Amino acid sequence: MPSAFITGITGQDGSYLQELLTGKGYEVHGWPSVDCDITQPDVLRVALQQSQPDEIYHLAAQTHVGESAQAEARTMAVNLQGTINLLETAQRESPSAKIFFASSSEIFGRPEEVPQTENTPLNPVNPYGESKARATEAVRVVRAAGCFAVNGILYNHESPRRGANFVTQKICQAAAAIARGEQSELKLGDTAAARDWSDARDVVRGMWLALQADVPDDYIFASGQTHTVQDVIEIAFETAQLDWREHLKIDESLFRATEPRQLIGDPTKARTVLDWQSQTSFRELIAEMTREATGSQATRSQ
Ligand code: GDP
Repeated sequence: MPSAFITGITGQDGSYLQELLTGKGYEVHGWPSVDCDITQPDVLRVALQQSQPDEIYHLAAQTHVGESAQAEARTMAVNLQGTINLLETAQRESPSAKIFFASSSEIFGRPEEVPQTENTPLNPVNPYGESKARATEAVRVVRAAGCFAVNGILYNHESPRRGANFVTQKICQAAAAIARGEQSELKLGDTAAARDWSDARDVVRGMWLALQADVPDDYIFASGQTHTVQDVIEIAFETAQLDWREHLKIDESLFRATEPRQLIGDPTKARTVLDWQSQTSFRELIAEMTREATGSQATRSQ
């Protein structure tokens, strides 16, 4: 039975990955990202000795871009030092294990080219992007030294398990709450902001595929299309059978000082090398998130 070790196993991606791998017959071990300190070598050493993984998926991170501006030291410690610690400890304790690192589109920040490929120069514009850019380079260094280490450059990816502080989930939960009469307005920042959004379950399948390839490499996992926050609002409110104009309030304090621009991923390499395909459309995803939010609120209030 193959075995896998997942950091951040309780997060959106970690929980879907655990289900995917368990379904494929893996023995899955993992760390919940909030409860462990990925920067502690001893703790990580013991965890790897106990689980003896064939595959390591490093997903644990301080994941919120907006919050990273206020928590720069912690973002660097967890996302950069934590990754270096994992790479070093894994090479010592599980030298034959294949390693997947969850990198991010934020490494491109204000990119020189659109869409971005695996070769686009790194140009982060916030602490989160900086921490992920440097960790991505660290993964490339260990790969050059012979380790099977992969960067999955992940563009935004959402699901009903997305944290409530991300804009898609914030909108879907608000539409559901307004439909139930529990709130009347939704406050948002820049509704013209655009992202390349995918389904988290598609992205997690890509992580696994990347470690099954013959050689380690970097892969962009993205839809190749952008939608705006406004598009999310319209689909979510339509699903909840509401008129968004009656509920949306723009709150200037929710605008970000530095927005990345034109982050659109070119997933050609993942499609051709890994046969990675997205199975859900953006519209289906936002509608599903809104329906799930409606269902979970109904369950909670019973
Ligand atoms: P990010 O790409 O990791 O920052 O994902 P988010 O879901 O947090 O934000 C996506 C985009 O939505 C960003 O461009 C935000 O500026 C924009 N946005 C607009 N209003 C809001 C809001 O109220 N909350 C969040 N989180 N983002 C917002």
